[in-house]
Amino acid sequence: MHIANDSKNGLDSLVIPGGESTTLLKLLESGGFLDRLRDFVSTKPTLGTCAGAILMATVVDNPPQPSLGVLDIHVQRNGYGRQIDSTIEIASTQKLDGPPLELVFIRAPKIIGTGPGVEVLATRRGEPVLVRQGKMLAATFHPELSIESRVHKCLLAMARSQ
Ligand code: GLN
Repeated sequence: MHIANDSKNGLDSLVIPGGESTTLLKLLESGGFLDRLRDFVSTKPTLGTCAGAILMATVVDNPPQPSLGVLDIHVQRNGYGRQIDSTIEIASTQKLDGPPLELVFIRAPKIIGTGPGVEVLATRRGEPVLVRQGKMLAATFHPELSIESRVHKCLLAMARSQ
């Protein structure tokens, strides 16, 4: 993860990737990056995918863990089950133009609550899987593993319009 806190560093937007949120947290805490990352995410377009979405959430369960607390969603880690339950599905995209979206879920978190400022862009079986709040986008799936790039284009559009 490349972290910067202002445009002097030449960074207009950021992807906080998937992986293991506990490990990301440990590295961020030990490197003293947590506050800088929180500042960046609060002001610049950021896409959090899977563990990245967990890091951005205001409330994390299963088990509870600290986070940046910037995106008003309540997530349940591994909410769709364990590694063996990882799956590829198709979502209806309420707010993204184009065909249904492929969703690659890998030990994905489930969004079980959204605050009033959070817009749901795509759902799976009625549950939010892609959300936006201001300049923050979060996906509980891995858009980088699908052939199309609509989610990343959304981030780039926000970065361009700053
Ligand atoms: N289950 C992981 C976590 O809780 C996230 C998995 C992922 O990013 N693919 O951090």
